[in-house]
Amino acid sequence: MSAVYDTRRASIALSVVVPIFNEEESLPVLAERLRPVLDVYGEPYEVLAVDDGSTDQTPHLLEDLRSVWPQLRIVTLRRNSGHQAALAAGLHRARGAYTVSIDADLQDPPEVIPDMLTLARTDGLDIVYGVRTDRSTDTGFKRRTAAAYYWLMRRMVGSFVPAQAGDFRLLSRPVVDALKSFPDQRQIYRLLIPSLGFPSGQITYRRGERAAGTTKYPLHKMILLALDSITSFSVIPLRLATAMGALSLVVCLAFLTWTLVVYVTGNTLPGWTSLIVTLLFFGAVQLFCLGMLGEYVARIYNSVQARPTYLIARDTEEEQQ
Ligand code: UDP
Ligand code: MG
Repeated sequence: MSAVYDTRRASIALSVVVPIFNEEESLPVLAERLRPVLDVYGEPYEVLAVDDGSTDQTPHLLEDLRSVWPQLRIVTLRRNSGHQAALAAGLHRARGAYTVSIDADLQDPPEVIPDMLTLARTDGLDIVYGVRTDRSTDTGFKRRTAAAYYWLMRRMVGSFVPAQAGDFRLLSRPVVDALKSFPDQRQIYRLLIPSLGFPSGQITYRRGERAAGTTKYPLHKMILLALDSITSFSVIPLRLATAMGALSLVVCLAFLTWTLVVYVTGNTLPGWTSLIVTLLFFGAVQLFCLGMLGEYVARIYNSVQARPTYLIARDTEEEQQ
């Protein structure tokens, strides 16, 4: 696959995809910081603001911004579909030779984007990850859960998953086209993209404070992301269940032999405690394994239905045609 995409063939050199959910406070700062970076770069670009069903002033603010910023393209989803779905909507519609995805809250600095582009072009890379070297502005809880997530993913999915690389990254057109060709829309991009095997590089940056507002990733969404990440990329939990089953079998056989020996020699004990403990233990193991199996079944269920993860209500680019 050609690494350096011929930008002369595409009229737009760079698409910037920004998933946005109730970011009325961050949007003005975002425009203030992102626009100069892109304007100075001097190549044709588009900014795809994907409004993920915001219920605050975000839609109006975007509209106002667009009237003074012609490169701003608003893609509105029918309802709140989640960060990854909003990202997918943006990637599917991006037209640039390169596409950068960036959060709206400015925790990822837009000033790094030109460095990503330069690195991709000079080194002939298809992917440039933004890697967070310093997360001291995140809460201790966020840092620890993130560290656990990347540790687990690198073990379960593979060590090619770059640690601390979130969804701030640059992709070349061939990568975006490859992503679009996957039928299953429920993708975890930070795991899928490294697994494709395109030549990649990294740019490190300090993760800043949220420009304004609060995180749109409460604990339950983080748990869902982790569960989804595991079930879509790894069968290790299923193998663990098998291993646990095999181990239990061995223990049970030993216990059975012992019980028989005790019975034959006439030394039968009351044994209420051991009975309850064994019963509870195996009951718990069985329920746990069943739950794990259920997670995979749920994923298959969702994939088989092949329902779209998002629906587009509006794309300002299409209105102009
Ligand atoms: N986001 C979204 N849909 C959602 C939740 C979040 O589009 O349902 C966007 C949000 O506006 C932001 C990005 O995804 O641009 C990352 O979210 P956030 O900053 O809240 O996550 P955190 O940085 O705390 O992990
Ligand atoms: Mg954030």
